[in-house]
Amino acid sequence: ERKQLHRLRREPTITLDGVDIKLYANAESREDVAEAHALGAAGVGLYRTEFLFLQRHELPDEDEQFRAYRDVVLGMTGRVVTIRTLDLGADKADKTGLALRDEPNPALGVRGVRLSMARDGLLETQLRAILRASGYGPLRVLVPMVSATEEMRAVRTLLDKVAADLRREGHEIAERVPLGAMIEVPAAALALPAFIGAVDFLSIGTNDLVQYLLAVDRNNEALGDMYTPLHPAVLRVIRDVIKLAKARGKPVAVCGEMAGDPAFAPLLLALGLEEFSLHPATLLELRRAIRGLSLERLRKRAPALLRARDRAGIEAWLRA
Ligand code: PEP
Ligand code: MG
Repeated sequence: ERKQLHRLRREPTITLDGVDIKLYANAESREDVAEAHALGAAGVGLYRTEFLFLQRHELPDEDEQFRAYRDVVLGMTGRVVTIRTLDLGADKADKTGLALRDEPNPALGVRGVRLSMARDGLLETQLRAILRASGYGPLRVLVPMVSATEEMRAVRTLLDKVAADLRREGHEIAERVPLGAMIEVPAAALALPAFIGAVDFLSIGTNDLVQYLLAVDRNNEALGDMYTPLHPAVLRVIRDVIKLAKARGKPVAVCGEMAGDPAFAPLLLALGLEEFSLHPATLLELRRAIRGLSLERLRKRAPALLRARDRAGIEAWLRA
């Protein structure tokens, strides 16, 4: 059984009816990147940069960040790498003193892109390091916790300025570095028609999207099984985001834990998803699950999924 799974490393991720599905890796360490490469991931769909900033007292400077990002790009040998800008705050604390202490409501506080933009030079230094790494292979930039178009416009303006600065300084950087937004704040999902023109690609962060849509803390065990993607509101929002992204020709992935659970694969495929980003640990299991599914059959059953009224209804759909 493990041997059979192992053999799938060199197989494509293709549905029974012949549709190619892209599996990207979530990574935050060298080991993750090496494993992603060995398992035949299409690229890195989410490189979490927080680990560079956690467990230490001083900030990593531009050169240290550059070397880390460059190594990810080199490690993936030409497959695309998606670097997420810093997502500190809320459940992701730090010792550098960057994140605010004692916020009354940290999940709704200064986290993600809000924190990056609030600290002088923080985002600019990170974008310089990322763009310098773009000279070594295909790379994209992903912004966490976006809630408004203005934030994407501000990041784009800074990205363009940094690119111009680096070229003037003689660095060789990629001609074009796509800029994407995490869709994990409900407002970004619901205002997507107004917002999508400002981005090149999207990645749906279901961990936070579920938390904010359902007003259920992702880390509060007292809430029991209330924290679940199996809620009609969650499915509807995911479906709408995928549909609009596809209509506008923008790549869209799901990069929350949900994408890494093979049990949810039929559901996400039915909702139109063709790009998954997940920790390498379950990549082969997901590949095996997808290779046993017919996309055409699932899409025919999508209306029934969207008619489900509650968790039991969604679970029944999954069982059928
Ligand atoms: C998410 O919110 O789904 C996500 C992928 O980001 P993180 O878990 O790092 O918040
Ligand atoms: Mg998140």
